[in-house]
Formats: sequence, structure tokens, C-alpha cells
Amino acid sequence: MAIQAPKGTKDLLPVEAANWQDFQSLAREVFGVYGYRLIETPIIETAELFVRGIGQATDVVNKEMFEALSGENMKSLIEGREVKAKSRLALRPEGTAGVVRAVVQHDLVPQGAPPAKLLYAGPMFRAENVQKGRQRQFNQVGVECLGSEEPTIDAEAIIMLMHFFDRLGIPRSSMVLLINSMGCDHCRPAYRDVIAQYLQEHHDEFCHTCQERAHTNPLRAFDCKDPNCAALMEKAPAITDYLCEDCVAHYETVKALLDRAGIEYKEDFTLVRGLDYYTRTVFEVQVDGGLGSQNAIGGGGRYDRLAEEIGGRPTPGFGFALGYERCQLALEAAGFTLPPEQGCDVFIACVNDEVREQAFELAERCRSSLISTEIDHQHRSLKSQFKLADRLSAARVIILGPDELAEGRCVLRDMGTHNEITIGLDEVVTELTNALL
Ligand code: AMP
Repeated sequence: MAIQAPKGTKDLLPVEAANWQDFQSLAREVFGVYGYRLIETPIIETAELFVRGIGQATDVVNKEMFEALSGENMKSLIEGREVKAKSRLALRPEGTAGVVRAVVQHDLVPQGAPPAKLLYAGPMFRAENVQKGRQRQFNQVGVECLGSEEPTIDAEAIIMLMHFFDRLGIPRSSMVLLINSMGCDHCRPAYRDVIAQYLQEHHDEFCHTCQERAHTNPLRAFDCKDPNCAALMEKAPAITDYLCEDCVAHYETVKALLDRAGIEYKEDFTLVRGLDYYTRTVFEVQVDGGLGSQNAIGGGGRYDRLAEEIGGRPTPGFGFALGYERCQLALEAAGFTLPPEQGCDVFIACVNDEVREQAFELAERCRSSLISTEIDHQHRSLKSQFKLADRLSAARVIILGPDELAEGRCVLRDMGTHNEITIGLDEVVTELTNALL
């Protein structure tokens, strides 16, 4: 059997690749109005960035990270030598850690500077169990705003994301915006202890992993996919009852700003999201229908400690990411289909082989005027060239024959109306340009 793409990856064939480009352009347009500018960071980073940034005890790092080995590292491993921490690379499982690393490395938020508003788009990699809406390589668009802890940033970004989904065409009625606050360094440790205690009190009812989580990372129990554990966690004490005064005020302001903007949301204290770096606001947008259990199309939150975790100065931040493939599934469920591939503007058909060189030359003249032009490259008969023109959805066909050529002319056919005119070779490009305008 011919070699196939690896499990959990997907080729974006031309129609879909064009759609992914349009998706990114729309994001740049909608988020650009809010001041977000494109940043490109490497697809590989040191594994340590994700271990320190996202957290060793998270699924994303502990179970799902793809590590990348250079030939040299591979040799060291085989020969039983250790690979230095800074040589251990990983394919990025998410975009935030890389962007924050770049912000710290290039000092993009010096003292007194306005917040850095950054936007990224590209593939992410997680060694997950593959299912509908859950791939091992998938595309995300995300934003990060660093340098302000004000709740206006959180509300602005959430409102902006909902505008993006509107522009994309995902019906508001099919989306649910869930929000929660994860507290901060002052109030979360006490809540962590409360949850650890809850896990211990119900020890025998939880799955083995959650039993361990009681000692390593109790809040991760909220992410457990086991229905039994999920039901138990719904009855766990809510973080909202443990927030400090500042966190309550922050959370209340975010909600009030969403209310003023007419954005509906549901508070969900079980929403902790899979990564350790979140503080205060976390949110997720889910769609009902079409996606099964993988129903989150986007989400994010505040990460006021992340820059410090990776060795930078304290720099509060907020960001979110949305999944391209899941948005497409949501759009399909809402009845949208991808637009058909665009046809070419003109096809040049040759009556016989004598005129092929002139056809080649004329095609180049058309393309220089940005008219998309195709010719036959397979020695087809004239009849079969017309069929090809149809297959390529050519709007017009130029027919080049030896007799017309001798007079410096050609025939131009409009494939929509079937009208034909004979026109000078020196006028045909201008005629086409005007017709296409
Ligand atoms: P996360 O970084 O997990 O918050 O993911 C942000 C968004 O990326 C999710 O809401 C999904 O839309 C998308 N996403 C996350 N993981 C996957 C995956 N394995 N396959 C496809 N899309 C994903």
C-alpha cells in the first residue's frame, strides 16, 4: 500500500487550504481592528518551555507532547548518553507558551509600554486519541495580550472572539460561552487544598488517575473524562466561593462588561481548562451539534504568572485559541459547504500543433496582466481541449488557428453566453482585462 499521512493528521487539499487561508485573513481583519498584530514563532521549542509553562502534571505535557530528536540527539540516546535539557525539543502543543517566550526574549513589553497584542496562526501537535474533531496535528488561530491585568482586556478579547464566530457564520444560537475564574496565588492554594480533601474524602469513587491527582494536581480532576468523576466534580465545592476580594471584583467586572455588550454566557465552576498556567478568567466556547464530545471550538483565559514561570519579569497576560478544523465541523453542522474551486479566466485552445508556441506566448502575455490562464500540456485534440476548458471552468476560451494567426487575429468565446468574436491578437489582452473587470 502507498504511504499514507500519519494517524491524526490531515492534508488540506487546495479547496480546503484556500479556506484555511481565508479563515486566517478573517481573523487578521477582525482581531486587527482590536489592535492585534501577527507574530510567527517556531513550531519547535525547547521541551522545557512547555514543561515549565504548561506544567508537568498536565495531560498536554505528560501524555501528549511530541518530542523532536535531532540526528545528534538520537545518536546520544542510542549510545546511552544523556540529552541536555536545552537540546530536548518538542513540537508545540499550543501557541501561548511560545508567544510569551518571544515576548520575554525580545522584551516586547518594556516598563511603561502599552500591552503587546499578538496574533498567531498555525499547526499544533498533540499525541491524542484520534476521533472526530480531535487530531494529532490541527490548526489554531490564537491571540495573546501581554502587559495588563485589567478585566477590560479579558472582556474585550471574549467579545472579539464572539464577533469572529459571527463573521464566520456560526449561529449564536448554537454556541454556549462558559466562563469561570480560577483565582490567583492568594486564593487558589486554599481552594486546591479543599479539592484535594474532597478527592480524598471520595477516594474510592474516583478513577485511579484522579486518586493520584489528589496528591499531584487536584484541580486537574475537573478535566477528567470519566463520567463518574465528572459527576462527582460537579458536586465539589465551587471556586467562586473561595475567591479573594480582588479576584471577585475582577470576575464581576468581566461579567458586567460582557452583559453591557449583550454577550450571553453561562458560569461553570467546573471549567478549569487543561493547562496549569491559568489565573482568574477562563472561558470556553462550545457548540451543540455536529461535534460530539469534542464540542469546544475555542477557549482561553488569563495567565498572569506565565512570563515569570519561564524566567521573565512579571507580565500579566490573557489569550485564547480557536481550532480551525472544529470551526469547520460546526459550520458544516450549520449547513455550510466549502465554495467550489475558482475557475480560470481564460483557456487558450490550439486548432493544431503549429500554433502551440504562439499559444504559450499569448498565455504569458495574459498572465502578465493578471488574467489567470491555462493551456493544454498533454497534446489533446481540439475537442478534448474544449472539454478541459469546461473542467477548468474557464470563463472564456481563445481559439488559435493557423488561418487567424496569419491575419494576426484569434477567436474569443464567452463560455457563459457562447458568443464568439474575432479579435486582433494585440487587442485580446485589453479586451479580456475589460471584460473581467
Ligand atoms: P486548547 O489549547 O486545548 O484550549 O484548544 C483550543 C482550541 O483548539 C479548542 O477549542 C479546539 O477548537 C482546538 N483543538 C484543541 N485540541 C484539538 C485537537 N486535538 N484536534 C483538533 N482541534 C483541537
